[in-house]
Amino acid sequence: CSSDLWFARAARPSGPCEARHNRAMAEKIIPLADHRYASSVPPVPAQDVAPTGLLGDALGRPLRELRISVTDRCNFRCSYCMPKEVFDKQYSFLPHASLLSFEELTRVARLFVAHGVHKIRLTGGEPLLRKNIEALIGMLAELRTPEGEALDLTLTTNGSVLERKAQALKEAGLKRITVSLDALDDAIFRRMNDVDFPVDEVLRGLEAAQRVGLGPIKVNMVVKRGTNDDQILPMARHFRGSGMVLRFIEYMDVGATNGWRMDEVLPSAEVVERIAAAFPLDAAEAAAPGETAQRWRYRDGAGEIGVISSVTQAFCHDCNRARLSTEGKLFLCLFANQGHDLRALLRGGYSDAQIAGAIGLVWQQRDDRYSELRGQQQADTGSGQRRVEMHYIGG
Ligand code: SAM
Ligand code: SF4
Ligand code: SF4
Repeated sequence: CSSDLWFARAARPSGPCEARHNRAMAEKIIPLADHRYASSVPPVPAQDVAPTGLLGDALGRPLRELRISVTDRCNFRCSYCMPKEVFDKQYSFLPHASLLSFEELTRVARLFVAHGVHKIRLTGGEPLLRKNIEALIGMLAELRTPEGEALDLTLTTNGSVLERKAQALKEAGLKRITVSLDALDDAIFRRMNDVDFPVDEVLRGLEAAQRVGLGPIKVNMVVKRGTNDDQILPMARHFRGSGMVLRFIEYMDVGATNGWRMDEVLPSAEVVERIAAAFPLDAAEAAAPGETAQRWRYRDGAGEIGVISSVTQAFCHDCNRARLSTEGKLFLCLFANQGHDLRALLRGGYSDAQIAGAIGLVWQQRDDRYSELRGQQQADTGSGQRRVEMHYIGG
């Protein structure tokens, strides 16, 4: 029975499987995140087929972006992502040997690039906590698309150590950066990161990133109704005219630990309405196909904002993103509960051509479109459904 991974240590059962369920159910259930998510080793095709860079999935969507979670650890405990009650001192994060090495990551990234990926985003957990991340950035910056172009290489960070890392990241070859920031008000920000981290340090990190040229910088704000929605206007005011693009993300039902409730989601349409009432906005065209954010431009020329409406307006129809977990499992959707174990192939003596073939097969069979199905009430949104956690799969 794998269900013991689901229940809080206090309720850890000991009898036969069903009795274990019953006992656990009788006690307070706290879903525990665990890294032993279901996965299978993808089949390797009998004959090598060279990547064409034109791979399509079962719904005709190309493979364009790879998000890599370089660590499952984080120094913040944002309640919507890694709630303190679950990710506490006893929580066992992945041991170092489980993580893909920089050489393994670069090898697998090269195969994805051959299949058509031209954008790589490093994420986590907190990617700047991975030791010597600059070395990995340097290795990935060397990769070239089949057309001979450098990759769009970016990274999402909570900004906590950005002030002292910005220069080295730029020198290593990072093109640009996205910084998460949920509030300008110090008390609200400290409450949301739940480790009492001051907002000033993140703001200084943003300044440093801008100074060294890691732009255009994006700032991501997850909006939770009743928690930080009063920060929408102060944030908009602060970042207008700064050259940075503020993006509002609808609070999502990712993972199994954040206790998501629909009434805490503030629809993006309302965010746009609130901002437009103070600073008139015009809709702008998407910059690239598959872009997650809808763009809005300030009428007075003070820049733009973006809204990411993953809950109220699904954008699965052109989702071109694959995700690689910290331990090398390939996930085809943020809401997947099953990964494809590429590490087993990387460490199993398979050739590049064989692994590229396996990746190709997996992508060709992809038909995930969770958010669209959720919108049509067809997705299984039950709280008992085990889904992979965002810090592990990469946000
Ligand atoms: N630690 C880094 C950071 O916070 O930027 C990178 C990893 S984090 C998982 C990536 C992004 O996912 C962040 O912008 C974060 O705000 C967002 N995120 C995490 N949980 C979320 C949720 N439940 N709903 C919406 N966005 C979420
Ligand atoms: Fe850490 Fe980022 Fe998750 Fe916050 S959103 S807990 S900073 S990984
Ligand atoms: Fe892509 Fe899955 Fe999100 Fe849809 S729900 S946009 S398929 S990651």
